[in-house]
Amino acid sequence: MKTLDTMNASPDCIFCKIVAGQIPSRKVHEDDEILAFHDINPWAPVHFLIIPKAHIVSMAHVGPEHQGLMGRMLTLAPQLALAQGAKPYPDGGFRILTNTGKEGGQEVHHLHFHVMGGPRPWLRG
Ligand code: 5GP
Ligand code: ZN
Repeated sequence: MKTLDTMNASPDCIFCKIVAGQIPSRKVHEDDEILAFHDINPWAPVHFLIIPKAHIVSMAHVGPEHQGLMGRMLTLAPQLALAQGAKPYPDGGFRILTNTGKEGGQEVHHLHFHVMGGPRPWLRG
């Protein structure tokens, strides 16, 4: 259940600005709760981010009320990875990564799942 509070954007958040269309992005999926767009600095031939439109700071901020949303975000990953050019499992595949907090390497503090795939070598990861 979406509430006004969880749909609130954070004014200084770059991903909230992407959701609002104030910063352009190359979208790969959009629905009422979720946006996916290409990472501006890709590590792999396929590299996009899946984010909730609501400003959830990180995986450390996810609670039982987010179970449905988290399921929908993860369920999108395989179909979007294939649509973006990742080869099918098992010879192809993809990587899903979520950095959380300072020691987890998180730089943008709006929850996002990195989805990476495509032929190796990759720049990172
Ligand atoms: P983190 O280090 O927080 O897990 O990853 C943040 C990711 O967001 C990085 O891979 C970075 O390239 C990407 N990123 C940062 N700013 C922008 C932006 O303005 N547009 C897009 N498309 N990606 C961004
Ligand atoms: Zn945000």
